[in-house]
Amino acid sequence: MALVSCPAGSVGNRAHVNTQLAVEALPDPIAEAVYWCGFASRDSYGAQSYFISRADGNVLIDSPRFAGSLVNKLEKLGGIRYMILTHQDDVADHERFRRHFGCQRVIHAADTGGSLKDAEQPLKGDGPWQLTPDLKLIATPGHTRGHIVILYRDTFLFTGDHLFWRKEVGGLDTSRLYNQYSWEAQIGSVEKLLDEPFTWVLPGHGYRFQADRETMREELVKAMARMRD
Ligand SMILES: [Zn+2]
Repeated sequence: MALVSCPAGSVGNRAHVNTQLAVEALPDPIAEAVYWCGFASRDSYGAQSYFISRADGNVLIDSPRFAGSLVNKLEKLGGIRYMILTHQDDVADHERFRRHFGCQRVIHAADTGGSLKDAEQPLKGDGPWQLTPDLKLIATPGHTRGHIVILYRDTFLFTGDHLFWRKEVGGLDTSRLYNQYSWEAQIGSVEKLLDEPFTWVLPGHGYRFQADRETMREELVKAMARMRD
C-alpha cells in the first residue's frame, strides 16, 4: 500500500511485490465505516485522505490522487456526497472529484483562494457548523487562517494539518515549521478540542492515534504544554 500510495513514487522494493493486491485493498478500512484512501497526491503535499461510508451520503475528507482504481472503488461504495477539505493545502484533485461525483465541496471561506473560489459550501465565521447530525466542523485557525477539523459521530476527529501523532515525541503534536497563519492561534485551536469527545485522531500527515477520552484529553494538554514551551 505504501508503494502505490507514495505521492512521489519513491518507495522501492527488491522483492517482486504484486502491487495489484495493494490497489485492490484500498481504501483500507480503519474502524466502523471509516477508510484510509491511500493514493496520496503530490498536489496535497502527500497528505492522507479519508472516506466515510454513510447511509445519508458518503464523505471524502481531503483529496487523494484521482486514481482510476480508487475512483472505481468509491463508486462501488456509493459515490461521494460531500468533499470536506480541512484547508487549502490538501485539496489536490478536488475539481476532478467534483466533476466526477458531483459532490459538494465544503471548506472555510478564508481558505478558498485560487481553484477553490467556486466551492459549493464555503463556511463563514467561527463555527462550529453542524453539517449533518453526525458531522460537526470545528474552526481550528493556526496552520492556515481557515483550517477546520471534522468530528464524526463524536468519535473520529479528522485533523488535517492541525494535529497528529508524532512518533519521535511519543505524543500528539503540531508543526511549528509549517505554521502558515498564527502559532498563538494554533495553540488556542488545540485547547478548543479539550471538550470534544473524540477517541481517534486521523491526520493529514504523521501517525493516527486512538485512545479513550481521558487519555486523549491528557495528550492534548501535553501537546499544548510542548507548544507553549
Ligand atoms: Zn497544510
